[in-house]
Amino acid sequence: MSSTEFNAAAIAASSVCDLTPYVPGKPLDELEREYGISNAVKLASNENPLGPSAAVIAAVEREAQQLNRYPDGNGYYLKQALSQKLGVAPEQLTLGNGSNDVLVLLAEAFLTPGTSAVFSQYAFVVYPLAVKATGAESIVVPANPAGHPQALGHDLDAMLAAVRDDTRLVFIANPNNPTGTWVEPDALYAFLEALPSHVVAVLDEAYCEYGEDADVRRSLEWLQEFPNLVVTRTFSKIYGLAALRVGYGMSSPEVADLLNRIRQPFNVNSVALAAAQAALDDEGWLNLARELNSAGMAQLEAGLQGLPVTIVPSKGNFLLLDFGRDVADLNEALMREGVIVRPVANYGLPNHLRVSIGTQEENGQLLKALGKVLNS
Ligand SMILES: *Cc1c(COP(=O)(O)O)cnc(C)c1O
Repeated sequence: MSSTEFNAAAIAASSVCDLTPYVPGKPLDELEREYGISNAVKLASNENPLGPSAAVIAAVEREAQQLNRYPDGNGYYLKQALSQKLGVAPEQLTLGNGSNDVLVLLAEAFLTPGTSAVFSQYAFVVYPLAVKATGAESIVVPANPAGHPQALGHDLDAMLAAVRDDTRLVFIANPNNPTGTWVEPDALYAFLEALPSHVVAVLDEAYCEYGEDADVRRSLEWLQEFPNLVVTRTFSKIYGLAALRVGYGMSSPEVADLLNRIRQPFNVNSVALAAAQAALDDEGWLNLARELNSAGMAQLEAGLQGLPVTIVPSKGNFLLLDFGRDVADLNEALMREGVIVRPVANYGLPNHLRVSIGTQEENGQLLKALGKVLNS
């Protein structure tokens, strides 16, 4: 074979060739390098602005002494800790390299060419990516229309109606990223009751800890009732461990057993396991993060009043802002002011920017920059 004969794309899986790579939020140092600025703030990836707690850092340092050893492939201690905290059995837990990993494992376990998965328009971008990679069909259900109290949010009735005989997965993000919209527990319960048994419901609760306690407990109770329900959560958001990549799924033991067969043997590293366990114990830090988020959301809502922007109501640690016009130039101008937010044109929302809630100072910097670029 000569080197000109080889065409990787021609022999690759067509489902892979059709994929568009995930585009992450711009890293701070990249912006500072490109624009020759310093003290930039990043409010683009829904990260916890507090960072990890002292207890987590201590756990990471302890674990660093043993980097020569493979991690515990079953994550025994973290599963025990999660089990005690959440009241689910260890056999119901699947640990992942971020909850992203669990979402991909679910797609791999249940989807093949000839099957389909249902999710909403504007739903988290990992769902279409995970589905497409398997060669299955994505059924994208139009979101709630303008004027609806949860405009841009999931239309559960339409999602249920979209389920076909060949459907194996339905993804529900509660709250959803990038919209911040949520579904009411009663509506979700009715949806799960009506969902046929040949479909697995994936309830993505990456931001649930920012919401009310009662809602969080309810989805765990539903696990007893619905063996086809999987609830995914993460340590990346309120727990502040995005860099370490650790999340988990909760399901019936049957589903967990399937996921366990296809996951990589050491999909969660030892530093992440130790840090997650320490973070789980640190209730005080969690409360602090929650309070900082509520205060920051109030600060942004107040500060945005009077600016030509509509705020989409959010139950996450971010706000989706509607400027009513294309925001590509606005995004660029904000970067020149040293503020990184997230454009969401890739979601079909070219008039919106998603901003993560930061510290009081970071939020102030965003408001100041927005005021400046909108008035110039
Ligand atoms: C951030 C996010 C996740 C998970 O991220 P991981 O870091 O992989 O745990 C999952 N779902 C939604 C909706 C998210 O926004």
